[in-house]
Amino acid sequence: MIPNRSPWLAQLNRSRPAVPLAQDTATDVVIVGGGIAGAVTAYFALKNTDSSVVLLEADRVAHGATGHNAGQITSYFERPFESIVQEFGLELASAGQRAVESAWGLLDEIMADAALRTPVYRFTGHAGCSEFEQLVEHLEENKDRAAAGLAPESVLIAKESNWENALPLFYKDLYSVVPQDDLLALLETDDRRYLACIASQKGCMNSAVFTEELMGYLMASYPGRFSLFEETMVTKVTLSEDRALLQTKQEHTVEALRVVLCTNGFEQFHIENVSGSDINTKFHHLVQGRIGYMAGYLESMNAAPTAISYFPKGIPETGDPTGETYFYLTRRPHGEDEGVAKNLVCAGGPEQVLPNQAHYTREEHCREDVRESLDEFLRTTYHHHPGPDAEYAFCWHGLMGYTPGGLRRIGAEPCNPVLLYNLGCNGVGILPSIYGAKRIARILSGETPERSIFDPIDQRCPI
Ligand SMILES: Cc1cc2nc3c(=O)[nH]c(=O)nc-3n(C[C@H](O)[C@H](O)[C@H](O)COP(=O)(O)OP(=O)(O)OC[C@H]3O[C@@H](n4cnc5c(N)ncnc54)[C@H](O)[C@@H]3O)c2cc1C
Repeated sequence: MIPNRSPWLAQLNRSRPAVPLAQDTATDVVIVGGGIAGAVTAYFALKNTDSSVVLLEADRVAHGATGHNAGQITSYFERPFESIVQEFGLELASAGQRAVESAWGLLDEIMADAALRTPVYRFTGHAGCSEFEQLVEHLEENKDRAAAGLAPESVLIAKESNWENALPLFYKDLYSVVPQDDLLALLETDDRRYLACIASQKGCMNSAVFTEELMGYLMASYPGRFSLFEETMVTKVTLSEDRALLQTKQEHTVEALRVVLCTNGFEQFHIENVSGSDINTKFHHLVQGRIGYMAGYLESMNAAPTAISYFPKGIPETGDPTGETYFYLTRRPHGEDEGVAKNLVCAGGPEQVLPNQAHYTREEHCREDVRESLDEFLRTTYHHHPGPDAEYAFCWHGLMGYTPGGLRRIGAEPCNPVLLYNLGCNGVGILPSIYGAKRIARILSGETPERSIFDPIDQRCPI
């Protein structure tokens, strides 16, 4: 049996004891959830407002999705951009895309301001397509990006594919044709089924170490305004017209003027709105769970950090995590092993939908069959594939929250604005949660931000 062991938690180096809430307290803002979303929301709330902030975490900081993700920094939506344009119009859709991309700058701001030492690697990442339809989807996306004034991604097509001849003329400025060997070199594969490649800005970081370091900075920098309580599970949130009362498992309470849920969507508490329509039922149907599986091994430091995705033929939507899927890998430095600098190569892709009401537990073992399918993918696809003695030091899974519209929820609850959300990762959550944190701080400081594709909406409570 292989335990659920993530490389991100393995790198945490903390000596701080967990301090649970031991008495009733009051604050301006209470944040529920100590992942990257909660930590960055606390950061901007403290920096951009005068509010006092209490953060409550059921477990320990960064042990949720933040400690069990793929650790890739990327700004795409897991939903086609075109469908966002159709739902919201080009202007709002492109503002949403720009907002997520703006989080690169916010991340720089936090790193510099808090003098964090968590490594952040930036590079151009690549995605390989093996089917003509996949290429067309990317070109269509590129066309919408160009129309919206967003920088188009660079698309390369293998000369040997003849795909260029099958493409409508209106795509002609959106791609280049190159020898297939050049394209395979970028994808770091010898697999000649890959005939097109998309390049975009990507990065890697250990979001658990980042979150833990940021929490340390907040505690040191705002001793009078910021308190963190771990091992403090919220069991009930009661909302009135101008405040919230939170109850914890240890039967203490926190009274606050605003409450921000940074829980990833899986909080297991009851929300009572004594000042309007029921929120509880709606809220608990907001997020659908999906388990993502990954594995990683250490190898000699033989290449620069990277992130590469591979779209093989005929990818089904969801289902059996050992079945055909798209795969991705990241490679980054991971400290030293017996005095020798090592790269960590991680692969992921297999996912499984968590049936409604089913309970996900982090303690569940890593699936050996999934690890084998990841190993098979690396051995057949990746240039520097694992040597015969490669050992998977890490094999892990994590829970992702998918909202019905596939977009993060950021903002005030329309049926009671005392409650705010920054949650729903939809597969990609690092940059969106950082952008969400900044937007929440703007709301807390009294601003009414411009409309956005991330706004929580409820027909019963028009804003
Ligand atoms: C398998 C997987 C792969 C991913 N890969 C990527 C990737 O490559 N790139 C990317 O950008 N994003 C990725 N993500 C998403 C990304 O990791 C998250 O969106 C991001 O970490 C933000 O997390 P969060 O803070 O919203 O949630 P979490 O880190 O899950 O934090 C939520 C916290 O809330 C706490 N909590 C919940 N209920 C309560 C309660 N009642 N009381 C108190 N505390 C409570 C939990 O204990 C938890 O610590 C991935 C996620 C997973 C699971």
